Amino acid sequence: MNNYVYEYGGKLYLNITNRCSNCCTFCIRKGREGIGGNTLWIDREPTFEDMKAALQAFDLEKYGEVVFCGFGEPVFNLETLIETGKYLRQMGKKVRLDTNGHGNLIHKRDIVPQLAQAVDDVSISLNASSAAKYQQHCFSQFGEEAYYAVLDFARECLKHIGRVILTKVDEGDEEENAACERIARQLGAGFRLRKKI
Ligand code: SF4
Repeated sequence: MNNYVYEYGGKLYLNITNRCSNCCTFCIRKGREGIGGNTLWIDREPTFEDMKAALQAFDLEKYGEVVFCGFGEPVFNLETLIETGKYLRQMGKKVRLDTNGHGNLIHKRDIVPQLAQAVDDVSISLNASSAAKYQQHCFSQFGEEAYYAVLDFARECLKHIGRVILTKVDEGDEEENAACERIARQLGAGFRLRKKI
């Protein structure tokens, strides 16, 4: 069974792809089947119709926010993301996208105006204070170009989407954590240090 929608820690999450353009050393997918007892490997990416059907199994009234975050980078399944996000917002739900920030590189165009119709908040994984460090941790298929694309993506999101937060996985390097926070603040975004799961 494909878990396109799952609950974790009292929040509702949407798992719409297993594809990703990174291969992060700290990725939660490594050696795991899923999160909180939910298997998140899927054998087919969902369409919008699949998402509507999967959402019916949940009482949406219980959740203040719905988050695109699963075992992969959600923007790979962009059509489903946009349609599902719009649908949830029409129902009065707040929608957040957790992303690695490669959307414009992956689709070779600016997808942010489209995203702005489907999500209220964006959380972007910054994860490093330089392109070289990013590549050491994230092994992007785009090479060091990925890091600059993440920063550009954040700038575009700040223009078009309400709340933008850059995040970093805490690997115990306080200097690097502080450097990442400075970059986020300089851009005008929020910052959150994430615990390694
Ligand atoms: S960007 Fe996210 S899903 Fe992709 S490899 Fe890194 S941690 Fe895993």
